[in-house]
Amino acid sequence: MQIELFEGDITRFAADAIVNAANTSLLDGGGVDGAIHRAAGPELLAECRTLHGCATGQAKRTGAYRLPARYVIHTPGPIWHGGHQNEAALLQSCYTQCLRLADDSGCRSIAFPSISTGVYRFPLDLAAPIAIQTLAAFSGVCLQKATMVCFDAVTYAAYQQAVQALDDAHEA
Ligand code: ADP
Repeated sequence: MQIELFEGDITRFAADAIVNAANTSLLDGGGVDGAIHRAAGPELLAECRTLHGCATGQAKRTGAYRLPARYVIHTPGPIWHGGHQNEAALLQSCYTQCLRLADDSGCRSIAFPSISTGVYRFPLDLAAPIAIQTLAAFSGVCLQKATMVCFDAVTYAAYQQAVQALDDAHEA
């Protein structure tokens, strides 16, 4: 699948599906979750209340309301506990489950924030290659483009390095 990197605010990014790095309650989050709820409007929280939460590494879909998207796909990333509590596999599962759900929903494009690297403290240099490799390995029926929307320059640089490492591995 085609992968793009973009530095900016995911609430302003136009894509068929926007991913939310949520918590397992799907309610009351900060960070990107808070920004998505503020931009989408109160109808998003009302719909989230009907979903009764989501397990870490899984994904659930809602409407996008005032966001420039058709759907929001909510996925609770793993909290970093040092790396021995299945964090890497759970993070990979977040990306895979979001991609599958978007593809099953007929989406052609999807935008992700950097899942788990904020409040959940997953190290960026470990998270970025997991994200990029999972996106690169996915082949969907409808889904053609995935964009990593990086909120700051440090995050953008980490994902750029992960893309470069994947390109180098393909050339070798
Ligand atoms: P988590 O709890 O999964 O760590 P956070 O929201 O704390 O989620 O952080 C995940 C990433 O989202 C961080 O890189 C943070 O800088 C970024 N982020 C915060 N607000 C936005 C936004 N409006 N658009 C894109 N990324 C954002």
